[in-house]
Amino acid sequence: MNLHEYQGKELFRSVGLPVPPGEVASSAEEALEIAGRLGYPAVAKAQVLIGGRGKAGGVKVVKRPEDLAREAGKILGMDIRGHTVRRILITPAAEIEREYYAGVVLDRKAETPVLMVSPAGGIDIEEVARATPEKILRVHLDGRGLPAYRARAAARFLDSRFEIQRALAPVLIRLARLYRELDCSLAEINPLAVTPDKKVWALDAKVVIDDNALDRHPDLAGLRDPGAEDPGEVEAREKGLSYVRLDGTIGCVVNGAGLAMATMDLIQHHGGKPANFLDIGGSSNPDKVTAAMSILTRDARVRAVLFNIFGGITRCDDVARGLLAALDRIGTKIPIVIRLTGTNEREARDLLGARGMTALSDMDEAVRAVIARAAEAA
Ligand code: GDP
Ligand code: MN
Repeated sequence: MNLHEYQGKELFRSVGLPVPPGEVASSAEEALEIAGRLGYPAVAKAQVLIGGRGKAGGVKVVKRPEDLAREAGKILGMDIRGHTVRRILITPAAEIEREYYAGVVLDRKAETPVLMVSPAGGIDIEEVARATPEKILRVHLDGRGLPAYRARAAARFLDSRFEIQRALAPVLIRLARLYRELDCSLAEINPLAVTPDKKVWALDAKVVIDDNALDRHPDLAGLRDPGAEDPGEVEAREKGLSYVRLDGTIGCVVNGAGLAMATMDLIQHHGGKPANFLDIGGSSNPDKVTAAMSILTRDARVRAVLFNIFGGITRCDDVARGLLAALDRIGTKIPIVIRLTGTNEREARDLLGARGMTALSDMDEAVRAVIARAAEAA
C-alpha cells in the first residue's frame, strides 16, 4: 500500500521525525485559508501516488496569496503521468541549504533491509545510483535496527559539520525504526533538507506498507486511497484476485502463481507481451472469473485474452461457468483463447461447446493462438 506524502509525513511526525506543519486542500480557497494560517512563503504539493512531482510541475513554492491561488488552480486537476491531482499539501516553505537522501528498502539479495543515504539528494536516487554510485552509502540493518554508531557514520557521510551530524543521526535511526515497526517495503525522505539555521527537515515522505502485513496494522488500513489507485487493482483486491498490471496487450487469466508466471514467460518467448499477471487462485468460485474478465475487458490495451487453467483443486467446469456468466454480463468482442486441462475438463468442454467455443489443451499452441489473435485485433 502506497501512501500519499501527507500520510507519510503524519507517520513521520508520530515517530518524532522533523516534519514541517502542513494540511491538505482540495480547492484553491482551502489552500489560501491554510497558507494564511501557516504562513508564506508556502509550498503547494500535488498529492498523487507517484514520484517526480517536482519535475512535472506539481510542486510550487509561492511567496504571496495571489501566486498560491494561481498555482493551486493549476496543480489541482493536473495529470501527472496518469494520476489526476485531487488534493494538494500546503506547507510553509523551508529555506534549503542542502538536500540529502535517506531511504530504507529491502535488499532482497542480502535478505535484510538496507539504509541508503546520499549527499546528492533532491533528485532521482536511481539516477545517482547509475551515474555516481560512490555518492551512496549503504548500511545493512539487522534485527536490532540501526545502532547509534552506524547512524553517526552515515551522518558523517552526509555532512562534515558536527552540529548537522548530531541532528541527522536520530533521523536515520527513527526512519529505520519506522520501516521495521510499520512493516514497510519503502520508507524514504528525499529531500532530507538542511536549512541555513542548521536544522534538518523531512520535506518529502514516501512510505509503502507491505500489503501482506496490513493485518498487523488495522489502524493503517484506513490510509488506503482507492480513488488514487489503478481501478483494476482495486477491484482485484476486493474480489480476492492477485493482479498486477503490465505493459502488454494480452490479458491473462490463470490459476496459480507458478502457472501464471510460466504463462507470461511463454507469451514473451513467442513474441507477445502480457497485459497483466492475474491469478484467480485455487478456488472454484465462478465469481472470481467474472471479476477477472470485467477487469480485463475494461482495460483498453487488452487485444486478446488467454485463459490458462490447470484443473486440480480448481475445477475446469467452474472456470468455464464463470467465463460464460461473465460473457453474458459483459458481452465483449475481445477474442478469447482457452486452454484447460485436468479436473472436470470434459464437463468444461461440453459447457463451452454448447456455446460454440472450443478449448485447447496444449499450452504452447494456446499461447501462439492468442498472440495471433491479438495481432489481428491490433
Ligand atoms: P517529488 O518531486 O515528487 O519527489 O517532490 P518533493 O517533495 O521532493 O519536491 C520536489 C522539490 O521541490 C524538492 O526537491 C525541493 O527542491 C522543492 N521543495 C519541496 N519542499 C520545499 C520547501 O519547503 N522549500 C523549498 N525551497 N523547496 C522545496
Ligand atoms: Mn521527493
